[in-house]
Amino acid sequence: MTTPLNLEGLYASSLRVDSKKKWVVAVIGGDILLFGSHGSKPALAIAAEDADVLKFFREGRLHIGQWWGSDCEVWDLTPEAAGCDGFNRVELRTLLAQSADAEFSLASRATQLLDWQKKHQFCGQCGAVNRMSETEHALICEPCVIRQYPRISPCVIVAVVSGDRCLFARHPRWPENRFSTLAGFIEAGESAEQALHREVFEEVGLEIHNIRYVGSQAWPYPGQLMLGYIADAKTEDIKIDGVEIAEAHWFKYDQLPSVVAPPTIMAGRLIQLFVEESKARYD
Ligand SMILES: [Zn+2]
Repeated sequence: MTTPLNLEGLYASSLRVDSKKKWVVAVIGGDILLFGSHGSKPALAIAAEDADVLKFFREGRLHIGQWWGSDCEVWDLTPEAAGCDGFNRVELRTLLAQSADAEFSLASRATQLLDWQKKHQFCGQCGAVNRMSETEHALICEPCVIRQYPRISPCVIVAVVSGDRCLFARHPRWPENRFSTLAGFIEAGESAEQALHREVFEEVGLEIHNIRYVGSQAWPYPGQLMLGYIADAKTEDIKIDGVEIAEAHWFKYDQLPSVVAPPTIMAGRLIQLFVEESKARYD
C-alpha cells in the first residue's frame, strides 16, 4: 500500500503501510493509559518502543490506521498495566474534554473498534464464532457469509436560537447548574433534518427553521456520530416533556449557564459559534 494522502493526525485505514515508526494507543477497560517520560506532557499515542513494557499485560490488539503517517495499533490491557512506570490511567471522557481534534479522533476510534470487536465475537444469525477479516475492519461469519462492520449511530445535536438567546436544557440526572444543547439519535428511515424537527418538538415543543449545518464529530459512547446544527426557533414558548428534559430556558449570549460543554466537543462548539455570531450582531 502507498503512503496515505492525509498525513495529519489520524488516517482511519484498515490497511498497514509497514512504516518504520509504529504507534500504540493503550486501553484498560475503556479508559486510556497515557505515557509521559521525563516530565513531558502525557501522550495518547505511544511510540512502540516505549509501549514495549506493556506487552506482558496485553489481551488483545487491533490495527486502527495511521497516526501522522505511521501505523498505529490499539492494545487492550489488563488493569495491572496502569502500575508501569511513566504511565497514567485517565477516563476517556476526561481525556476527550481536553483533547484537540486529532487526539480526539484517535482516542475515539481506538476505543470504538476495541468495543466493537469484543461485542461481536459471534454471528447474530447462527451463533458461530466470527473471524476478523485480514483486509478490512469486518468480522465475518463464514457459514452465513455475513460481514459485521463497526456500527456507527448518527445523532443530531442542535443549538436552537431566538435572536440573541439560545435554548439550553438540563437532563434529569445532571447537576442543577449544568445545561446543554438538545440532541438525539436519528431513527431508522429518518433524515437528519427530520430528526432535528422531531427531537426539538418532542423535547421542548418548539418548531424550528433556518437549519444550518456546522460540522460533525465521532463520539465514542459507543459509536455515535454527532451532526451539529444551529437552527432558529419559530416561537419562544417552551413545553418540556419532563422525561428526557428536566428543565429548559433561554439564555442571552453574555449570560450563559455556569456549566456548559467545552468547545472541544460538538455541544461546546455550537455554543461558541452562537456566542461569536451574537457578539458580532448585538455588541
Ligand atoms: Zn452465522
